[in-house]
Amino acid sequence: MEENRDLSFRIGPIRPPSEANSLLIQVTRGCTWNRCKFCQLYRHTQFKAYSVDSVKADIDNMVILADRVRSHIDAEGQWDIDGLNYELGTIDSDAERQSYYMIANWLINGGKTVFLQDGNSTVLKGGRLSDVIRYLKQAFPHIERITSYGRAENLSKTTAEEFADLKEAGLDRIHSGFETGSDEVLKLVNKGVTQEQEIIAGRNVKAGGIELSIYFMAGVGGRALTKVNAEETAKVINAVNPDFVRVRTAAYKPGTELYDDWRAGLIDHCSDVEKLLEIRRIIELAEGVDTKIVSDHILNLLMDIEGHMVNDKARLLAICDEFLNLPPQEQKEFQIARRLGMVIRPSQMRLVGPGNMLHLRQQIDNYPGEREWEDHINMIIERYI
Ligand code: SF4
Repeated sequence: MEENRDLSFRIGPIRPPSEANSLLIQVTRGCTWNRCKFCQLYRHTQFKAYSVDSVKADIDNMVILADRVRSHIDAEGQWDIDGLNYELGTIDSDAERQSYYMIANWLINGGKTVFLQDGNSTVLKGGRLSDVIRYLKQAFPHIERITSYGRAENLSKTTAEEFADLKEAGLDRIHSGFETGSDEVLKLVNKGVTQEQEIIAGRNVKAGGIELSIYFMAGVGGRALTKVNAEETAKVINAVNPDFVRVRTAAYKPGTELYDDWRAGLIDHCSDVEKLLEIRRIIELAEGVDTKIVSDHILNLLMDIEGHMVNDKARLLAICDEFLNLPPQEQKEFQIARRLGMVIRPSQMRLVGPGNMLHLRQQIDNYPGEREWEDHINMIIERYI
């Protein structure tokens, strides 16, 4: 009987923040590279590409769960949340409960977007990924957007025609962690890709008609390479014309090789000001692109940086300058208040109450040296990565 078998499906560990309400479908597990010095996400996971049949079996389970979830829509088209919760509570298996919860959350939020996991799904070649996507769209015809991660090195070996086939099947966007466009920094962090490969990859994705979202990790090359990190990344952005540049903040996390390099004195991490100056520089150098920059990570200093890199350039630079023009003490107060979740933008500092302000100033006093202070900020950031 259909009802008696386990209806769970695989769910991988991460997705971009922009896919918070997406259905997650794991077509691969782990990362094909697994050697970037700042990343330990899949360090203990052996890469596996799931067979098309096994992903389709997951999709079949999703369809059955979706029917069950939809049975909790009343005659007025409203969700019966109590009914959903009751059914959720009757499911014995943890995996099936998690799967039911994901489908319910997805459908309640519109059920329109899907993210294909894990770190490098586009490695599925020979029409296998297209096959999965077509099956998925047949199963859920209301899906409006399907996205996936793709590693630049792998994307550079995929032709524009292959991307066009994926687009035709229904793949709308590829997220790729370029992190930097600088060959020196790419080598330093062992990204396993070159600037040239990033440009080929980006152009092929775009030529195939798929949207491209690339990630820039401000400060990842440390102080010595802060200038090239920004300027060479700007070169890649201008050459590729990605749809999105998403900003991430570098932090050296214990357990990563980059942290060990820092402790060994081989690299010195950038301050928040230096990271922001990198972001400011890539905006300043953006030329002839139709690219939106988005600072959509909770650990970023300025989450308001969002807009068209060319058309909104003056406004974006002004957002950076609002912080950069603050006196050093006020910069520190904002740095810590931001990371403690008290504020989003510098202008909100006047809303911080006297008790909280005293707490912020005590923290600043505890780390009087500039490097001590930046090490403290690094520690706060890395805790949340
Ligand atoms: S390619 Fe991505 S997932 Fe793989 S090791 Fe590098 S950062 Fe981590």
